[in-house]
Amino acid sequence: MKEDSELDSRGAATVIGTRDDDLARAASVILSGGLVAAPTETVYGLAADATNGAAVAAIYTAKGRPSFNPLICHVSDLAMAESLAHFSPLARRLAEQFWPGPLTLVLPRKEPCPVSELATAGLPSIALRQPKHEATLRLIRLVGRPLAAPSANPSEQLSPTTAAHVAAGLGARVDLIIDGGACEAGLESTIIAPGEGGAVMLRPGAQPRAEIELFTGPLLSPEASKGIVAPGMLRRHYAPRARLRLDAESPAEGEAYLGFGAPRAGVSPSLNLSIRGDLAEAASNLFAMLRALDESHVAIAVAPIPDTGLGEAINDRLRRGAAL
Ligand code: AMP
Ligand code: MG
Repeated sequence: MKEDSELDSRGAATVIGTRDDDLARAASVILSGGLVAAPTETVYGLAADATNGAAVAAIYTAKGRPSFNPLICHVSDLAMAESLAHFSPLARRLAEQFWPGPLTLVLPRKEPCPVSELATAGLPSIALRQPKHEATLRLIRLVGRPLAAPSANPSEQLSPTTAAHVAAGLGARVDLIIDGGACEAGLESTIIAPGEGGAVMLRPGAQPRAEIELFTGPLLSPEASKGIVAPGMLRRHYAPRARLRLDAESPAEGEAYLGFGAPRAGVSPSLNLSIRGDLAEAASNLFAMLRALDESHVAIAVAPIPDTGLGEAINDRLRRGAAL
């Protein structure tokens, strides 16, 4: 991994809003090959024209991403998605049910397909999603092409859930930042590959497993599936600088404590993901609170989080953030 100092994040990013003239400006930056950080309901994305190989390459450079992992392509609607990939009846049902929303579908790429091979890392598949964010959907419609967009942060670090997080991490390495406020879900999308032999969950995320399984039956793990590859599922990812200790009932000397649920007697959390014990609230606070504690502490202890519903994705991010 590159050190931060090797990446030039000095200089202020230009931050714009979500008015029509702002989005028109963002669309023209994208159409001329530039990078625009855009809000979605999951996290902020670093978006480029997915059909422009040089623009997609600039995403990897800006993030300091060590290898060319495939990127999720964001579409304005199902029609745009169907122009890029083959949809089985199940894939279409999932899109109709969950789009716009935090479910990414990995599907066979159509050939020919206008999306750059770099965005799909040379794979025969393509990852597609219609984000649930009005401004970004308007932006994609204005561009008229799919937008390749990973999270708008330096590689391996915490994902950004506000425009200020993007500016702090990427600075002038991004041409424009669209400030659409704090992200509603605060966690990346769930990634599913609905294949012939069953649907595989490649990454847990903001769309809980149980809701998807109503349509797919039990989701398979990537290990159990044959032939479906999800490169880029790095063991260490979503990491603060501070050391993370998970499932901690209380902080040790010198540790910040990130709580969940009603505080226990004698334990005062530095911050609490959700005093009510609400997993959706915890998900939306996760990255911002880790970031805040990371500013002032070298070690963070995190309370146990139940592994149900959105807890599966929260615990996945925490485990990767804790990996060395
Ligand atoms: P993100 O880091 O949020 O952009 O997520 C991208 C992840 O989606 C990648 O690291 C892959 O695991 C998965 N992915 C994207 N495109 C494909 C693809 N064509 N085939 C399989 N997995 C993909
Ligand atoms: Mg990311």
